Amino acid sequence: MRAFDYVRAERIDDALTALAEGNTRCLAGGTNLLDLMKGDVEQPARLVDITHLPLAGIEPLPDGGLRIGALVPNSDLANDRRIRERYPLLAQALVSGASPQLRNMATVGGNLLQRTRCHYFVDVGFDACNKRKPGSGCTALEGPNRIHAILGASNRCIAVHPSDMCVALAALDAVVETQSRGGARRIAMHDFHRLPGTTPQRDTELRHDELVTAVTLPPSPFAEHSRYLKVRDRASYAFALVSVAAALDLDGDRVRDARIVLGGVAHKPWRARDAEHALVGHALDDATLSAAGAAATHGARPYHDNAFKVTLAQRAVVRAIREGART
Ligand SMILES: Cc1cc2nc3c(=O)[nH]c(=O)nc-3n(C[C@H](O)[C@H](O)[C@H](O)COP(=O)(O)OP(=O)(O)OC[C@H]3O[C@@H](n4cnc5c(N)ncnc54)[C@H](O)[C@@H]3O)c2cc1C
Repeated sequence: MRAFDYVRAERIDDALTALAEGNTRCLAGGTNLLDLMKGDVEQPARLVDITHLPLAGIEPLPDGGLRIGALVPNSDLANDRRIRERYPLLAQALVSGASPQLRNMATVGGNLLQRTRCHYFVDVGFDACNKRKPGSGCTALEGPNRIHAILGASNRCIAVHPSDMCVALAALDAVVETQSRGGARRIAMHDFHRLPGTTPQRDTELRHDELVTAVTLPPSPFAEHSRYLKVRDRASYAFALVSVAAALDLDGDRVRDARIVLGGVAHKPWRARDAEHALVGHALDDATLSAAGAAATHGARPYHDNAFKVTLAQRAVVRAIREGART
């Protein structure tokens, strides 16, 4: 690992000052950042340790929602009674990720900002990776690309976003709160992660001098009928090939409102609005389910090894909706 400076932030201002100086990364649980530094993928000049900042609480909001501090560990969030009762989709997504030990260390902010698991990004032995080295090319376009994107990719990058938590947060209309010396911002979860376009080196809308302070959840009509379904190569301890967050607001067997978000298929959690339109106002019969499944992958463009993801995503959507409706 390359040498770096270490700063421990005692107050939020300390972290903001360090970030404003540039080439500085926040150190939270360290479960992603330190691996990438050991592999020479990330090369920050300075780490600012934010683990002592007062950002580890979960507070009720006046509108009935919750504000989740950026340092809340993934395991605490999954086990919080309010999350399990009012946002079970989020609890399911969290416990499907990583391992219990990792979830004890991993934080909300770190999970939001974890980087892709694209083989060519995480291994500096591959010279061409536009995300790691802008302008160098994309090895995945010609190489094995079974795990890569089928939606929203570009000819510069076909990597996928790896988080389970973020897929559920997008379905729950979460908002990311940030702070910098210039002020605070609120960014809708759906807009937080970016598609690769011509600048795949930028995963998110977060600026280099901004700290994620919290994620807020509005009150949700989806508590009773939601399901996070993760399809992967192993039963546990593996990233999603395809995942689905299905959230339904039902009036009898009719769908009043719905959120369908896919993971493992794009550079960001992929909101399948066509699938939502196929559901809203309809009874949940076989015809509606298969229309929603087919609509979920509208515009898909698979690569040579991953056409299977299109069918897998469609079937996973149908199953997640069916199971969500029954809960
Ligand atoms: C073996 C393994 C298996 C895994 N499996 C899964 C899985 O199945 N599903 C899944 O979703 N995840 C999985 N993960 C990823 C894991 O969830 C992430 O590593 C973890 O969430 C990162 O959180 P952290 O607090 O450790 O972040 P760190 O490693 O500390 O930080 C990650 C990035 O976020 C930045 N950062 C952290 N907090 C803030 C903040 N508040 N403001 C601004 N920037 C910040 C850091 O600077 C860094 O760039 C796995 C990880 C491992 C190692």
